[in-house]
Amino acid sequence: MNILKNIESIRNDFPILSTKVNGNQLVYFDNAATSQTPNCVIDSISDYYKTLNSNIHRGVHKLSQLATEKYENSRKKFKEHLNANCTSEIIFTSGTTHSINLVSNGFIEFLNEGDEIIVSQLEHHSNIVPWQMLCEKTGAVMKVIPMNEQGELKVSEFLKLLNNKTKIVFINHVSNALGTINPIETVIEKSHAIGAAVLIDGAQAAPHFEIDVKKLNVDFYVFSAHKLCGPTGVGILYGKKEWLEKLPPYQGGGEMIDEVSFEKTTYAELPNKFEAGTPNIAGVIASGIGLDYINSIGLKNIKEYEDYLLDYATSKLKEIEGVKVYGESKNKTSVISFNIGEIHPYDIGSLIDNLGIAVRTGQHCAQPIMDYFNIPGTIRISFCFYNTIEEIDFLVKALKKAIKMLS
Ligand SMILES: *Cc1c(COP(=O)(O)O)cnc(C)c1O
Repeated sequence: MNILKNIESIRNDFPILSTKVNGNQLVYFDNAATSQTPNCVIDSISDYYKTLNSNIHRGVHKLSQLATEKYENSRKKFKEHLNANCTSEIIFTSGTTHSINLVSNGFIEFLNEGDEIIVSQLEHHSNIVPWQMLCEKTGAVMKVIPMNEQGELKVSEFLKLLNNKTKIVFINHVSNALGTINPIETVIEKSHAIGAAVLIDGAQAAPHFEIDVKKLNVDFYVFSAHKLCGPTGVGILYGKKEWLEKLPPYQGGGEMIDEVSFEKTTYAELPNKFEAGTPNIAGVIASGIGLDYINSIGLKNIKEYEDYLLDYATSKLKEIEGVKVYGESKNKTSVISFNIGEIHPYDIGSLIDNLGIAVRTGQHCAQPIMDYFNIPGTIRISFCFYNTIEEIDFLVKALKKAIKMLS
């Protein structure tokens, strides 16, 4: 395994990994919330403010031209990475949440009372709430694809929900709470067959495997740079050109206009139409550097290594008495959601935090999943390519200690 051979040098790229918590080496297992930041990304942000800082797309001066070039170069990187048709199909936003709101707001124009939109039970709140707000504004009705005990979508139920009133289907590629990889190819194909658009929330997929929007034939694909070794505050919205042209602008302001007068304003061409105001220039440039970093390791290598960590950790955890793992699809990424007996996940989380292990406890912004299992929440560990088998062994020891203290 390539990563295993280079793990020391990879870890050295992430300064935060040498942090000590209460005298222990930090073990960072909360990568589904945000990934850590390599030196090249941190340096990119600092270099930008030291040498380039200026506003883009407007100055005739040298710094503005250079900054614009780097900003647009980052767009090119994401275009190539996703295999989009052209750079105007890549819109920079502030995150997955912003990207979803941009699309859901635009759909106000396309929906009438009684139209239907489809979500799944496996979603992050940010792929539920904006659409509920859309339903309130338009009188459209939201239908929900149910899941099974393994945490997988029931595809046959999805097919029953589709009809000629369905206008858009929005589901995640990978569940952040359980790690399930959803059959989005089928969802896209069947939705298109009845004329509905599809938005895929790829926040948990983009860090783990390659995405080809052309092959998927998806209408909208969204994710956040901060889960891809980039900084916070940058999101990517891929949209098919024909959809982005139809969709009305989300925010008005500078940069998104063609001509402004008090009588009438015309909007700029793509992608500027959706990037009103001064964007997160340093962040967008650094996100491109983060993407380069991921690609230098290689998503195939990443997937192989993370699957190895996932299998090892799952079997070690299951050896602990009382452990129940939620979401056991064969098709999943490196996320493990579990509970131990009747112990509250928060109590375990706090005890192992004292030992320097960072996990997430609670609902993971996905309350409908917790309601399905009838639990208050879970302990979630999620891996990145810089995690190790030794860290998993340390976690297992820490969990056993915590169980003794709590029972
Ligand atoms: C993290 C996440 C989001 C929200 O991303 P933000 O960066 O907070 O906007 C949405 N959906 C999924 C599946 C996520 O994992």
